[in-house]
Amino acid sequence: MSELEPIRIDGNSLQRSFHGAVFFDRDGVLVDGVMGEAGPRPPWALDEIHFGKTVFQAISDVHDAGLYAVVITNQPDVARGQLPLDTCLEIANHIVNELDIDVCYICPHDSADNCPCRKPAPGMVEQALTELSVTRAQAALIGDRWVDIACANRAHIPGILYSQIDALSPTSAGNPPDELDVAFTSDSLEGCVDFAGRCCNG
Ligand SMILES: [Mg+2]
Ligand SMILES: [Zn+2]
Repeated sequence: MSELEPIRIDGNSLQRSFHGAVFFDRDGVLVDGVMGEAGPRPPWALDEIHFGKTVFQAISDVHDAGLYAVVITNQPDVARGQLPLDTCLEIANHIVNELDIDVCYICPHDSADNCPCRKPAPGMVEQALTELSVTRAQAALIGDRWVDIACANRAHIPGILYSQIDALSPTSAGNPPDELDVAFTSDSLEGCVDFAGRCCNG
């Protein structure tokens, strides 16, 4: 990718003026992984999108708490030539609309691009905080892998682990850092959102 900017997709309800934001990783948190030849991968087509059972309630709870629901997602399959950008955007738009997401930021790059947005880099979170006028005291991030927690740590906001058995195993971004500051862990998305809401009342 030559353009090293994340892609921003706005939802229908962005005119809302909320006091804080809950950042959600997408794949493995809001959307189920798809079992591919080399293990779980993101959906590559609209009919591969499956939402977790508790996801709709989770987003509704975030809005009821007066907070933006923001998606922060790495989609390196675009840079790897496995997912056309148009399809990536079609999938993201569908998810944004179905879940009533306020804003979605997508990093379409791979590690070799050295972009500021690919998690664990904090670029997408920093951009969202600025663009939504949200302070760090009113933000938290929920993710299922170490890159999400490391991103939150580097953005100086609480990192909440929606626990999965492979949360701390190496990813295509490498190994987790020795010191990972996990603010809260739960295998319940409702529990993660509840904790995030309490973080955002600072
Ligand atoms: Mg994930
Ligand atoms: Zn990027």
